[in-house]
Amino acid sequence: MSKMVRIEIEAHGGTDMMKLVERDIPALQAGQILVRHEAIGVNYIDTYHRTGLYPVPSLPSGLGGEAAGTVEAVAEDVTNIKAGDRVAYCSGPIGSYASHNVISAASAVLLPTSISAAQGAASLLKGLTVQYLIRQIYAVKEGDCVLFHAAAGGVGTLAVQWLKHLGATVIGTVGSEEKAELVRALGCDHVVNYRKETVSERVAEITNGAMVPVVFDGVGKDTFEDSLKCLQRRGLMVSFGNASGPVDGVNLGILASHGSLFVTRPTLYDYIPTREDLEHAANDFFSAIAAGGMKIAEPTAYKLEDAAKAHEDLQARMTTGSLILVP
Ligand code: NDP
Repeated sequence: MSKMVRIEIEAHGGTDMMKLVERDIPALQAGQILVRHEAIGVNYIDTYHRTGLYPVPSLPSGLGGEAAGTVEAVAEDVTNIKAGDRVAYCSGPIGSYASHNVISAASAVLLPTSISAAQGAASLLKGLTVQYLIRQIYAVKEGDCVLFHAAAGGVGTLAVQWLKHLGATVIGTVGSEEKAELVRALGCDHVVNYRKETVSERVAEITNGAMVPVVFDGVGKDTFEDSLKCLQRRGLMVSFGNASGPVDGVNLGILASHGSLFVTRPTLYDYIPTREDLEHAANDFFSAIAAGGMKIAEPTAYKLEDAAKAHEDLQARMTTGSLILVP
């Protein structure tokens, strides 16, 4: 039986739990394909699976949900993908921090020839996230002024570019001057360093008191309350992540006192539940790239065995753009 290497955790905890182990490659079941990874996407959610903020289904467990590479084998009943195809995926079961993975053919997306495996692994999950945030939850249109938190991050750098492509005015938050320069270069109209400035005060200045119709907030705990203050009456708060910790204990009355606000706490998988939805979102993302709306920057690469270091850097706010692991 062929072997693979992968990162596993025996229990939830710190990065010291992440161990590189050798395992048999499982036999293909109906509807499955075997992918040899060339690059593996690192996403903030992987840290939640490691710590147990989002518990994994069972332990020991692999980590990671995104990768790109070449199909090595397909089950007999798979017709839409063949050995040799270049694919990326981001909705398989947890376990992509590995040299190989067996996934459902229905979760694989064929990579356009213009997109490398590194770019695919760096951008599919984050790009589909931006797609549902700014095209499905709130269909951003020309002239909208929107606030996007953590604009220099993996999701943020794609969001800023796509929002500009749609003709929006973008207010982005960042945690350092170096990150501010990066997002300005991507076209962000107004950059706020939220370690130094109160975002709602800056949004009031920038919009002459009009505030914004929508806030996209993946930072969570630290920014939630001030984000509500950035919104117009009946505005929409999209709280989509927990980089600083989860938002909890919210008194719903706070939505009334800030102007009859709406709040949603979405996850990507509810916006791509079917193969058709996945293809539609991926085509929308790849079309925006092809139209010149976004460039996928070369991601910061770590060796697979250094996955713990990638988690440490991500959680220490030391990174910009996307991170990948290379087996
Ligand atoms: P990022 O590359 O954006 O990294 C997180 C960034 O958050 C950091 O670089 C940092 O930027 C900022 N941040 C602010 N406060 C903290 C803190 N206390 N600790 C750590 N980071 C902090 O990660 P991703 O692009 O992978 O993900 C961004 C967010 O989007 C995450 O919250 C993730 O969970 C969420 N997400 C949600 C999805 C969904 O469907 N709901 C899907 C995909 C991602 P700075 O230094 O500039 O503040």
